[in-house]
Amino acid sequence: MKRCQHCNVAVVGQVDTCPLCQCSLDKTGEPSQDIFPSIPTIYHQYSFLLRLVLFISVVIAVASTAINFMFTQSGWWSLFVLGGIACLWISLYFIIQKRANISKTITYQVILISLFSVVWDALTGWRGWSIDYVIPIVCASSMLTVGIITKVKKVPKEDYMIYFVLEALFGIIPIIFFLTGILNTVYPSLICIALSLIFFAALFIFTGPSIIAELKKRLHL
Ligand SMILES: [Zn+2]
Repeated sequence: MKRCQHCNVAVVGQVDTCPLCQCSLDKTGEPSQDIFPSIPTIYHQYSFLLRLVLFISVVIAVASTAINFMFTQSGWWSLFVLGGIACLWISLYFIIQKRANISKTITYQVILISLFSVVWDALTGWRGWSIDYVIPIVCASSMLTVGIITKVKKVPKEDYMIYFVLEALFGIIPIIFFLTGILNTVYPSLICIALSLIFFAALFIFTGPSIIAELKKRLHL
């Protein structure tokens, strides 16, 4: 153990400065092992990859803006490139933040992708592809993905149940689009609605009482 002459305390671990006063520690003591294992964060694990993606994003953003300024008669398409890069990084941010809970990560991505697609659709003269295809496909595939992953990875029930319910609720949202008649193509939405009803049924039939208890706990009822 090393000593801090200033604070008169012994310091455990492989550090050179005192955690209290930041003074240099007495080097004479025996070096000791750190008490806590150092766990690499996702930033360390994927540091190079993240830097590379960041660099590529900057290159694409700068290059497309510069090219767009040279040929302004083609409209301001570089704004869409910048928007796309921003969407990618917002998504990545949430993937990194919520990575510990896979169901949570997927649920956040469903919300983000749905919002992004509606905004893009609206900004590009509303053709309806976001509610016709993107939202039902994203909702349906996320329900299937969460369902399969939680079974395969044996995730504890309480870690995914609330997200199962959320995913199933999202899956029912296209019923609003369907009933209001704003859809151009109805099949993806119908499949998504059907899937979420089956999902709900499975949830309540197989995990009934525990899911109600979990929901009460989470919603502070
Ligand atoms: Zn000290």
